[in-house]
Amino acid sequence: MSTYNPLLQSQEPTYYDVTLPSKGISYVEEGSINDIFEPDAIIDGVVKIRALTTKDELIWTDQRLVEDLKAPIIILKNTVLGLKKPELLIRADVETLLLEARVLTYGKMTKVSWTCSECNNVNEITVDYTQLPIKQLGDFEELMLNFKNYKVYMTPIIFKEAVEIQKANDNDVSEQLDKIVSCIQRVDVADEDGANQTVTDKRFIAQWVEQINPKDFKFIIEHFTEVNKIGTVMDLDVKCQNCSYKEKTDVVVDITNFFSEED
Ligand SMILES: [Zn+2]
Repeated sequence: MSTYNPLLQSQEPTYYDVTLPSKGISYVEEGSINDIFEPDAIIDGVVKIRALTTKDELIWTDQRLVEDLKAPIIILKNTVLGLKKPELLIRADVETLLLEARVLTYGKMTKVSWTCSECNNVNEITVDYTQLPIKQLGDFEELMLNFKNYKVYMTPIIFKEAVEIQKANDNDVSEQLDKIVSCIQRVDVADEDGANQTVTDKRFIAQWVEQINPKDFKFIIEHFTEVNKIGTVMDLDVKCQNCSYKEKTDVVVDITNFFSEED
């Protein structure tokens, strides 16, 4: 029996290039790149993605899968060429890929939200995704924090870990601490003789973060905030719908309503 189907106009879907905000830098550093991608599926931080099919879209609107956050994983496996383990991507890369899939499927417009610094009104605006200035990781050094005798290597939060931490925690303080520990991949510490020890055990890192003095903790939280700005939409000119206040702001793209409504 022939597998040729004359109903299908094109046998091969069209794929488009998209640059990941991480540019793959942290995956190379951790050696997870070959677990996440097939060989040659990522080149200089660029991967290939296609638009959603009707079947993909049904997955996205399946409420059960959306609640479990399995829907984005299945959709990314279907649409990104050679992507084996989307759950190991940083959250910012997941968001960018889902946005790109949405753009390829429905067009360029997307919704972003920001909170007015005058009246705290939460505004929702529709913008052209292809015009958004998205912050990308420049190089490996941006992930390093050096203070006192510590060298901290921190990555943006991994998608799977962000989901698990959110599920596991019922208060904001432990959620914040868990997120920070989850982002710290390695700490080098020099002893008094200048000898270096490398710590990668998350239990040791958690103990260290919890007992650190508030002044040093400030360095860590600032670095955490900076590292996790990767993938954020930077410096957008906005005007509050409530009080008309104008400002520049970093905005968060809301992935929960990506596919649920048409433009
Ligand atoms: Zn306002």
